[in-house]
Amino acid sequence: MLLLKNIGQVVTLDCGPAPRRAGSMSELGIISNGAVLMRAEHIVWVGPTKEIPMSELDSQPTVFDGAGLDLVALPGFVDSHTHPVFGGTRAQEYDLRCQGKTYQEIAAAGGGIRASVRQLRAATPEQLEDRTERHFQQFLAHGTTTIEAKSGYGLTFEDELKILYVLAALRNRSRLETLSTFLGAHDVPDEHRKSRDEYIRTIIEVMIPRVAQEKLAHFCDVFCDTGYFSVGESRAILTAARQAGLALRIHAEQLAHSGGARLAAELGAVSADHLEWIDDTDIEALRKAGTVATLLPGSTFNLGLSHYPPARRLIEAGVPVALATDFNPGSCFTLNMQIILSIACSQMRMTPAETITAATINAAHSLGLSDRLGSLEEGKQADIVLMNVPDYREIPYFFGVNHCAMTVKKGTVVINRLERT
Ligand SMILES: [Zn+2]
Repeated sequence: MLLLKNIGQVVTLDCGPAPRRAGSMSELGIISNGAVLMRAEHIVWVGPTKEIPMSELDSQPTVFDGAGLDLVALPGFVDSHTHPVFGGTRAQEYDLRCQGKTYQEIAAAGGGIRASVRQLRAATPEQLEDRTERHFQQFLAHGTTTIEAKSGYGLTFEDELKILYVLAALRNRSRLETLSTFLGAHDVPDEHRKSRDEYIRTIIEVMIPRVAQEKLAHFCDVFCDTGYFSVGESRAILTAARQAGLALRIHAEQLAHSGGARLAAELGAVSADHLEWIDDTDIEALRKAGTVATLLPGSTFNLGLSHYPPARRLIEAGVPVALATDFNPGSCFTLNMQIILSIACSQMRMTPAETITAATINAAHSLGLSDRLGSLEEGKQADIVLMNVPDYREIPYFFGVNHCAMTVKKGTVVINRLERT
């Protein structure tokens, strides 16, 4: 049994059904000087410290007393869009972008996703597991307790499976919880540049059936954008995935207004991601479909662009908004959700409260996990982080530092910096 008490603010997000839309994204259900009691993997009680139910306590609970410290407790971040399995970094492309080359120019010269594909194919499963496990530990150290993790740097049957097997193996090695997404349609690989239809047929007829049969992924995703996969191609791939039992996510409207968001609504995708170039008709379609808009402002920031997704219009229209890092070695090399909240506040004019809702309960909803994750309520899984700040607004406001002092995953302390304070 684990008890956290005398926590300055406990941000429960215990505020009604998920997903949260419009004004309800601002409701955080904060308890001042709060406490959280956990037994095994679950939360059994949340409330003010002075009301801790002593009759519920075991004889020797593990107690963390926040008296005299500046601490905010909140649900572990749920990062609902990441590309965490890759064979190497692309710092030289970052350098080129800083010198004025665009992402598209670098991709046309053989860089971008195709560079990551070459690195991934050359790496052994052991190398990939070791690299990815180190990153998983960093997710936990920054307060993220669950991630969605995509394939998409293999782009052959064997190499896509290699990524999904790495993710499956890490479920036994890492405390980070992961849900896998098959993203065979991330790009057309070099060897199929002149036979893209054949590659798409392989995705539909070979890869998706095997992924579904072996239960290697919960979701299927497509990079539906100019220069990648058209709306027609994306529809064919996603329809096959849906028939195979996979839920759908789409990279949409990142590079140009190309129809991905409306396709997400048409197919009942659980999430449409990026959305830099979405228009009001698309927004209405997402609202009607109940599709979550997953915004990735870290990639806009990291690419040095100025056109962010229209978060305010999405929220005001009643579309549930989630935030995620887009952690990947090309366009967004951060796994720190805290800095994503800062960028969302300063560049998209979301409020600190909205960003916390977007990075917890709404992200959990987009993964189909909001009944178990994303808020601190009796009966939910005990995934909790303690941030070393006096007020939740300081998580985005005091930016560029890691505020995470403790991470609890399924009732177990997996990161603890409080012992040093
Ligand atoms: Zn992505």
